[in-house]
Amino acid sequence: MSPAGRDAVVIGAGFAGLLAARVLSEFCARVTILERDVLLDGGVRRGVPQGRHLHGLLDRGRAILEELYPGYTEELVRQGATTAEVLVGTRWYVGGARLTPTPTGLTSVIATRPLLESVLRQRTLALPNVELREGLTVSGLTGDPDRVSGVIVGRDGEAATIPADLVVDASGRGSRIREWLGGIGAEPPPEEELEVDLGYASRVYRHRDGQLDGQSSVIVSTGKNGRGGGAVRVEGNRWLVTLAGMLGDHPPTDPAGFQEYAGTLTTPDIHEIITGSQALDDAVPYRFRAATRRRFDRMPTSPSGLLVLGDAQCAFNPLYAQGMTVAALEALALRACLAGEPSPSELPARFHTAAAESVELAWRLAAESDLSNPGVAGERTVRTRLTNAFVARAHRAAHHDPRVARTFMRVAHLVEAPAALTDPGIVGRIVLRGTGLSLTSSSHRRTQED
Ligand SMILES: Cc1cc2nc3c(=O)[nH]c(=O)nc-3n(C[C@H](O)[C@H](O)[C@H](O)COP(=O)(O)OP(=O)(O)OC[C@H]3O[C@@H](n4cnc5c(N)ncnc54)[C@H](O)[C@@H]3O)c2cc1C
Repeated sequence: MSPAGRDAVVIGAGFAGLLAARVLSEFCARVTILERDVLLDGGVRRGVPQGRHLHGLLDRGRAILEELYPGYTEELVRQGATTAEVLVGTRWYVGGARLTPTPTGLTSVIATRPLLESVLRQRTLALPNVELREGLTVSGLTGDPDRVSGVIVGRDGEAATIPADLVVDASGRGSRIREWLGGIGAEPPPEEELEVDLGYASRVYRHRDGQLDGQSSVIVSTGKNGRGGGAVRVEGNRWLVTLAGMLGDHPPTDPAGFQEYAGTLTTPDIHEIITGSQALDDAVPYRFRAATRRRFDRMPTSPSGLLVLGDAQCAFNPLYAQGMTVAALEALALRACLAGEPSPSELPARFHTAAAESVELAWRLAAESDLSNPGVAGERTVRTRLTNAFVARAHRAAHHDPRVARTFMRVAHLVEAPAALTDPGIVGRIVLRGTGLSLTSSSHRRTQED
């Protein structure tokens, strides 16, 4: 029998839950997804309130989704999404100026989060051994500290149990997994946090031909003042505009305040879209207090029969657009673990160790970037300070140098390792350009030609 057993239960039909179900369908006789919401195609739902805000899918994540669901990008486009070469079809402002437009080999899929998720859901639920049970809230686990044997759904007089050989918690950042482990007498995992007190506000506008010179999106990374935002042309010929501010400096949701906040960003592009387009709804806020990582990989013992992934394991600062891609990396890690046929008691430790490797790089990139803001509390090691000084130079170089811009984007999209930026062919460009020194005329010519 498979190390996952015959029957798997997945808690949550968000991105991570659907991906887990997709992978488990290869190894289990039956996979049941339990979802609190009643799911509607295309709409924002209560269980995923972040669905109202801009969601960028990194190219590494898109490639994994293509591997697990061949034709995923094409299907999104068929349903109204657009695709763009990352630095050509999108204007990217980082470190106070625009990254020089150049081909990167990376594709942006521009769509709302509900569309990205609904195509994934349609494809997952088309698998013959995957079933979705909607409108069911999991309220606990059954079993003991050594072994999880199922879940409890509903509460009090109406509670029922659903037995399972494997339970996967993919219930998102609000997961009650620590409490649920306590309920079966098991220890909770240690937790790490990085407080950023980030606020989002998003509003939808009608798109008009010719806006942004026909480009499909503009992204402004949070600059020195901790403010950023994005406007993306999503399905239905609409602009989805999201503004963001760190450390309590949150964008207002009233029309005048929203517009004024957009005017303080390092480029007028988003402000121009807001003032030149018809609003289709009211702005809605989202507050994100802290990035949180639950270290299941560091639990001295963990019960067999339980895996945790997605935001329930690690909820990233959304500014770096990593959550969906890390969920996809974790799905691949799960597949590789199950293919290795560990015993059921070995599976949790093996999976959580492999998943932690998938999380580590994204967590480090985001944390180092957050810590470059002097107002964010946290330990700044020598490595963090050196990395941030180097990254600031890389940004400055990427404003002019196509090779640096391309490599920077490929690292941010988790397609290349950060070491690519220290490649001798790149590092010299970063040091010279990033310090404002001019290159010799011959190397300058080479740069322009690259
Ligand atoms: C404001 C914001 C912006 C973001 N932007 C990006 C971005 O640009 N790019 C990116 O990659 N990621 C982004 N993310 C992160 C991304 O949304 C998540 O990482 C991704 O959705 C994976 O989450 P998940 O599937 O683990 O959880 P979710 O998507 O939150 O899904 C959890 C599911 O579990 C269900 N559920 C919860 N509790 C229970 C229960 N007790 N019983 C049954 N069902 C339950 C919920 O209804 C929901 O369907 C953003 C997050 C936020 C907050």
